[in-house]
Amino acid sequence: MVDFKQLANLPSVDYLLKHPDLKERVKESPNVWKETIRHLLENIRNSFVSNELVNLPTEEEIIHMILNEKKDTDDFSLKRVINATGTIVHTNLGRSLLSSRVKEQLETSAFSYSNLEYNLEKGERGSRYQHLEKIIQKLTGAEDVVVVNNNAAAVMLALSTLIPNKEVVISRGELVEIGGSFRIPEVIELSGGMIKEVGTTNKTHLKDYEKVITEETGAIMKVHTSNYRVIGFTESPEITELAELAHSHDIPLINDLGSGLLIDMQQFGLPYEPTIKESLDQGCDVVMFSGDKLLGGPQVGVIVGKKEFIEPMKKNQLLRALRVDKLTLSALEATLSLYLEPEVAVQEIPTLQMISKSYEECLEEAKSFEEKLSSTKWPIQIKREAGKSQVGGGSYPEYQLSTELVGISSDDLSTTQLEEKLRKNDLPIITRVKNNCVWFDVRTIREGEMEEIMQQLTHIFQ
Ligand SMILES: *Cc1c(COP(=O)(O)O)cnc(C)c1O
Repeated sequence: MVDFKQLANLPSVDYLLKHPDLKERVKESPNVWKETIRHLLENIRNSFVSNELVNLPTEEEIIHMILNEKKDTDDFSLKRVINATGTIVHTNLGRSLLSSRVKEQLETSAFSYSNLEYNLEKGERGSRYQHLEKIIQKLTGAEDVVVVNNNAAAVMLALSTLIPNKEVVISRGELVEIGGSFRIPEVIELSGGMIKEVGTTNKTHLKDYEKVITEETGAIMKVHTSNYRVIGFTESPEITELAELAHSHDIPLINDLGSGLLIDMQQFGLPYEPTIKESLDQGCDVVMFSGDKLLGGPQVGVIVGKKEFIEPMKKNQLLRALRVDKLTLSALEATLSLYLEPEVAVQEIPTLQMISKSYEECLEEAKSFEEKLSSTKWPIQIKREAGKSQVGGGSYPEYQLSTELVGISSDDLSTTQLEEKLRKNDLPIITRVKNNCVWFDVRTIREGEMEEIMQQLTHIFQ
């Protein structure tokens, strides 16, 4: 039997709002507090009436519940985490981090009016893409540029502008799926083009392309197989040969490069990957790439190339739906400007910085972390060993960077429990679990974060 009379003892919303433990904080946002308290009391009442709750909570307990509830709603859902996984362009953790050198430019465009679509010279309407023309020309030699929401959108916009109702010739080895759900064949169909597959998965010859080109052909397309490799008995024609073939038939060669390299990463011991400038120099008419993979900028898809092909894209109605906002544009411009001095780019762009971090630097940082852990009296076992980090984001699929890992296990907690405690922290720390240890890869741990990790571990083990 429910003792309804007890409900009368529940404090009122007004009483709680004036409670000494809440009063001061209520002033900050009285409506939010009132709603939180009202909702909580209602839940208590309902649980009591339905017999889920046998005794009503005390006043002290109710205050505690209110404070907890408010803390949950105060926390943003999208929040900072520490990436200790060693995967640099981590798709689930936000891919690339912006350089702090981008901050000022971002603030300017966010909090002030700007010449986003205004030509200051002529005092008339301008284009939001004009801001990138000069810098893109300097960095890649491209005549023109347009920017959309991501690289998938870039492929859609390019194809829907250049080959509606026509065929696009593409090698069977390049009809790939990239990332979560980006499938080249499906995107081509969505954009209104028809696929003309040529060659086989491992080998496609120039003559395979040659044979299928007809009046119906709108373009030849190359897709950089950024997230996998066909190795061994393979062959595909050179870009220069494909460009020659396309141009002799008066059609463009489109290249979906994916990763968006502006500098040669071989200087850091990474395998060869084509840069954007190289692809254009080899004769590609349109090249597209992501802004938040190896470029280390905001999430965008950049389309560069010859004016005669880019200009019509700017007039495509689809662009209205795919266009980027001023914050993204200014972050991109500021990121690109760092590339004018390649050494600066490598130092200041987090993605490049983490890729170029040497094994020796990782070893130093791992040793220092190990020392800090050893100087505590926590019930833990510590391990340190050489390991591998990944570039991630579908870039450099078969290449791994040498790093040094620090592992922790504890007699008090299972590995799963420790991983979970770190992950569900106020400041979540994402780790790797392997061989009954929770591992920290120093490559992706940012400056100052080691201290924060130590603080969080103190809460767990002290
Ligand atoms: C990553 C990638 C895409 C998709 O780019 P998003 O920016 O994630 O939309 C398309 N093509 C290639 C070759 C890629 O590597």
